[in-house]
Amino acid sequence: MFQETYVDKNGYLRYSSSGKLVHRDVAKRKYGTLSKWDQVHHIDANKLNNQPANLMKLSKSEHEIIHHKSNKAVQNLNSLDYALGKAIINALKGIFKIFR
Ligand SMILES: [Zn+2]
Repeated sequence: MFQETYVDKNGYLRYSSSGKLVHRDVAKRKYGTLSKWDQVHHIDANKLNNQPANLMKLSKSEHEIIHHKSNKAVQNLNSLDYALGKAIINALKGIFKIFR
């Protein structure tokens, strides 16, 4: 079923009927569940690409790590697949904890 959508002021697609964010709805269907604490990352950095394969469910801290501007290696995560991305994030979280 096609639902009418529009692009909001932040560049995200929303359903015209409910105003809900499309990428969160797609991620909810992909993962089965999505809490309000879960964040959804667009792997290819294109906010309009809401294909399930392009969406990654992350915690707030994982999401911040991915977008950490000073870390070029992490920014390159955009070109990696989900499993590898998660493995690198978990490794980095360990490193972050050590230096905290
Ligand atoms: Zn993101």
